[in-house]
Amino acid sequence: MIKIAVYGKGGIGKSTTTSNLSAALSDLGLKVMQVGCDPKADSTKNLVRKEALVNGKIPTVLDQIKQKGKNLTLEDIVFPGYGNTLCVEAGGPTPGIGCAGRGIIAAFEELERLKAYETYEPDVVLYDVLGDVVCGGFAMPIRGGYADHVFVVTSGEMMSLYAANNIASAVRGFGNRGYAKFNGLILNSRNIENERNIVEQAAQEMESHIVKILPRSGEVQTAEDERKTVIEALPESDMAKEYRDLAKKVLEAVKAA
Ligand code: ADP
Ligand code: MG
Repeated sequence: MIKIAVYGKGGIGKSTTTSNLSAALSDLGLKVMQVGCDPKADSTKNLVRKEALVNGKIPTVLDQIKQKGKNLTLEDIVFPGYGNTLCVEAGGPTPGIGCAGRGIIAAFEELERLKAYETYEPDVVLYDVLGDVVCGGFAMPIRGGYADHVFVVTSGEMMSLYAANNIASAVRGFGNRGYAKFNGLILNSRNIENERNIVEQAAQEMESHIVKILPRSGEVQTAEDERKTVIEALPESDMAKEYRDLAKKVLEAVKAA
């Protein structure tokens, strides 16, 4: 089982990138489980099968724990998505009350307690994690032995590179204890001036590199309007090719690690 965490600043394109990566990996014949680790709980909205949606979202693990307590089953929290994918949303607390990372910790504990990985036997697990603050639950994927590989989605914008650097430092901090490996940056272009050079430079400072440059594309929005990934909505498009190439590069990077 390949266990990958995709980190990055809020709004940078983690969920879009991760969902398309899941769909592309599924098209390669792999079984993929995507676990949304962001209190926004919208990681899998373009990946999940529409029948599973309640008020436009799938129920989160945190919500389901509240409702069903110990009667919770895997079917309450794991939902089928495009192709051979499975979707989970950790969820988050009511804004203003409680810690946002708690949803992630609870979700991880429940998935383990209910033997999700043994039951579904995914080839790849992708954790889509908000990386603005790498503390508490948000550090769980890199700390608890959950993810073996970490990729960071960033643009050339300073705030997203700042977040990327924090994540790189956190992984390095845990690194010598045999946990996750920092496998590189995914540049999700915002088309700012000199973007590639800026991110290459930043990657060097993190002792890392760019795994894949994704262009900014209107096709993402077109697919999103149908609540689908680009891979599903526009499989022949240029952007679908980019996401398939991302899948290939991620698998190569994982193999090389
Ligand atoms: P995050 O999960 O990091 O908070 P999202 O994946 O939800 O961010 O992306 C935020 C918005 O950016 C989405 O509405 C999406 O349409 C847009 N977006 C992401 N990547 C691209 C891209 N490569 N080209 C165009 N739009 C993009
Ligand atoms: Mg997201």
